Amino acid sequence: MDHRIPFLDLRVGDDERKRLLEAIDRVLQHGRLVMGPEVERFEAQVAKRCGRKFAVGVGSGTDALFLALKAMGIGPGDEVITTSLSWIATANAIALCGASPVFADIGEDLNIDPQSVRSLVGKKTKAIVPVHYTGRCCQMQALEDIADAHGLAIVEDAAQAFGAMHDGRPAGSFGVAGCFSMNPMKVFAACGEAGAVVTDRQDIHERLLACRYNGTVNRETCIAVSLNGRIDTLQAAVLLERLKTVDEVIARRRQNAAFYNRNLYGVTGLPAVGPGDDHVYYTYTLQAQRRDELMGYLASEGIETRIQHPILMPHQPAYQKARRAPLPVAEAVIQKILCIPVNEKITTGQMEIVCDRIRRFFGR
Ligand SMILES: *Cc1c(COP(=O)(O)O)cnc(C)c1O
Repeated sequence: MDHRIPFLDLRVGDDERKRLLEAIDRVLQHGRLVMGPEVERFEAQVAKRCGRKFAVGVGSGTDALFLALKAMGIGPGDEVITTSLSWIATANAIALCGASPVFADIGEDLNIDPQSVRSLVGKKTKAIVPVHYTGRCCQMQALEDIADAHGLAIVEDAAQAFGAMHDGRPAGSFGVAGCFSMNPMKVFAACGEAGAVVTDRQDIHERLLACRYNGTVNRETCIAVSLNGRIDTLQAAVLLERLKTVDEVIARRRQNAAFYNRNLYGVTGLPAVGPGDDHVYYTYTLQAQRRDELMGYLASEGIETRIQHPILMPHQPAYQKARRAPLPVAEAVIQKILCIPVNEKITTGQMEIVCDRIRRFFGR
């Protein structure tokens, strides 16, 4: 018997596989593999779910961020303030537009610290890209206040937070645009690369549609230098099926997090949840002393964990020259973060083993 507890298990169970294969088969039969009818239906449902007028399906979360910033006219000479702790795609999307990412510190919630953002705003600042890290929303009111005071746009990196709520509003509904990744590791996942941008602005929607397909309008005329970032019809079809069950997936992850909260209380640092936050637990991130030792011990016990992410974006070789705030919290936190398996497939028995081994490691 396999006692290994994987961080994620992307295999698809029998019932769901049947539904996905039927959805894929429908696409293969109608044959509109590029921009088929499933794309529009996917966009309509994602827009509705996020309380937005428009959604545009794109090839990945990275595409979503890049195309949203580009559609807003962000480019060379502009600065965009973002967090220090994220998957590097966040910074890359800003830099690929020709703008400069500027890195703020984080708070104990692992999200961008509004105070640090305020200290970085300058003449060149055009936008803020908050990342709803781990699946928990940023302090949006404070960020909106800064944005309003300085005439900045907010573009949410909601790649990890589809379905999360904050003060009664869904992730993706706060900024000028909200960007999602639906890659297979995310909570709302395709069977390959996929993403979406949501917005209420018609002008940005139109620019997004052009930028998503080589900057073209009316099939041929190119109005902006861009790439091919369209979503596949097949992935849209998979996502339409999975949208039906995403709330069950999120509910399971919340139950799993609640189990860990009860069983690891007082043993190690647990993820905080603020009032008004409905976290979707893309990751359940501990802050542990002797983190590397703990990770090694858990691995020796067959428990797979991950550090998301071990290198702060401003510490990446590619961003050595980027402007940044002092990063005392981010630099301390990055030594302690450890994600334990919280996915919807983990069993109570497996979570009991995870908790037992963590308690044992700390002698509790
Ligand atoms: C996953 C992720 C992205 C990029 O999404 P892809 O679909 O992998 O391109 C961007 N930002 C964050 C915070 C992510 O977690």
